[in-house]
Order: sequence, then C-alpha cells, then structure tokens
Amino acid sequence: MLARKTALVTGSTSGIGLGIAKSLARQGARIVLNGFGDVEGAQKELAALGAEVAYHGADMSKPAEIADMMKFAADRFGQVDVLVNNAGIQHVAAIEDFDPARWDAVIAINLTSAFHTTRLAIPAMRKANWGRIVNIASAHGLVASPEKSAYVAAKHGIIGLTKTVALETATTGITCNAICPGWVLTPLVQKQIEARAQAGGIDIEQAKRELLGEKQPSLQFVTPQELGELAVFMCSAAANNVRGVAWNVDGGWVAR
Ligand code: NAD
Repeated sequence: MLARKTALVTGSTSGIGLGIAKSLARQGARIVLNGFGDVEGAQKELAALGAEVAYHGADMSKPAEIADMMKFAADRFGQVDVLVNNAGIQHVAAIEDFDPARWDAVIAINLTSAFHTTRLAIPAMRKANWGRIVNIASAHGLVASPEKSAYVAAKHGIIGLTKTVALETATTGITCNAICPGWVLTPLVQKQIEARAQAGGIDIEQAKRELLGEKQPSLQFVTPQELGELAVFMCSAAANNVRGVAWNVDGGWVAR
C-alpha cells in the first residue's frame, strides 16, 4: 500500500515510534528513522522487513536540526509522504516544583517539533496532492492527570495543531490526524513504573498492576503494533476523509 512512499517517524529508535515504523515498512514504505536509542538495532529490525532505511539524529528540541533532517529526507528519498510526529519525553512533578527547563524541553520536543516538521513537509505534500500526517498525542491530550502539566499541555496542544492542519489541508489529498494512546509499555512508561515501585516499596509487577488499575479499564497495556496498524489505516485510501480526529486507543481510559 505504501510502496514508493517515504515515511519519516520522529523518535523511532524505540517504543511506539519503532512499532509504527515497522507497520509502515510492512506496507512497503521507505523509512527515515530518528531518535537517540539503539539506532543499529532499529535499522536491523526494519531491514529484516525489506525496508529501505535512513537515519537522521536530529534533536527534536532544535529547529535547525529538524530543518536539516527534513532536507536530508528529501535529498535521500525525494520527499516525505508520511510524517509521524512521535518523539516525546515526560517529566513528572507538581507545578510549583516543576523545573522551568524541563517545561521548555517537554513543550519543544512533544509539541513545537511537530510544528516545524509539519510546516516543512507540507509544501511537497501539496505539490503531490497526497500526504499523511499522524501525530502521536496521548490520552493526556484529552484528559489530565496531576503532576504532568507540561506533558498534558503539549498533548492537548498537538491535538489543536492536528485540527488546524486538517482544516488548512481539507480540500487536498493531505490528511492530518492524531492517535491518543493510553499506557503502552515502552521505556518512557518503564521509568514511571520503576519510580512508582521505588516510592511505594512494591515490586515492578505490582507497580504495573496499580498503574493500569488507576486509569486503564482494560487492565492491559496498549501495544506499539496496535498503534502501528491504526497509523497504517490512517495512511490508507479508506481514511481519505478521516481528518482532524483525535483517536484514542486507551483500553477505555477516557470513556469513564
Ligand atoms: P520512548 O521513550 O520509547 O520513545 C521516545 C522516542 O523519542 C525515542 O526514540 C527517543 O530517543 C526519542 N526522543 C526523545 N527525545 C528526543 C529528542 N530530543 N529528539 C529526537 N528524539 C527524541 O517512548 P514512547 O512511549 O514510545 O513514546 C513515543 C510517543 O508516544 C511520545 O510522544 C509519547 O508521549 C507518546 N505516548 C506514549 C505513551 C506510553 O504509554 N508509552 C502513551 C501515550 C502517548
């Protein structure tokens, strides 16, 4: 379905980004990887699926590096047809203790980076009259939790950006949508589970059960594969008129 298309997935060396990159690769897309994790491992996993892969190590908090990555992708593969804005970090603290530098980093990586990649990707998508932009928001783009002010603000923000871009491209073959995962067992969440285990003097399995029990009625983690398959659907012709949605895949988190 995505043969001869190029997909750039930010923050794709682990977790959800890698899962989405693999799903898009299975559909024949060329992949531009980005992120600070195990680059070689991610490249190998994608190559095993027969994908052509390139990597750019842009720091998503740095606009000049983002611009360089977009130029690199266009030089290497012609243009970016599918843009997945996935890179993200978390910082947990009460607002009065929230380090302003961490606030700036969360907003830059989780929100502002998507503004830059999107503004730079759209001109070529308009020329081709085809493009797909998939923003990885969160259940925290729809509802809040305490001690995550920057993350919740960034994720609500990216849903606003998604809707605006969807409207600006509504008469074209470009669509822009958001996916809102609940808990997914990735390095980002593993850190929160470890912190919970340590704070409560409980083991990791108990910490996982408590984490799920608080928010996710299914009591199961969402998987990167499930999110990858939704991204594939959003890239399909069947989703030509799916525009500006914030689609939760959260085991019932926001249904309550
Ligand atoms: P992860 O930590 O496994 O992956 C994050 C990726 O972003 C990694 O590849 C990392 O190297 C990269 N990254 C971090 N800072 C970067 C920077 N400055 N520049 C470039 N890359 C950078 O986490 P994940 O859980 O897979 O998170 C992916 C996205 O999914 C994030 O936007 C996160 O907010 C969102 N999300 C995660 C969950 C969850 O439960 N894991 C739930 C909802 C939303």
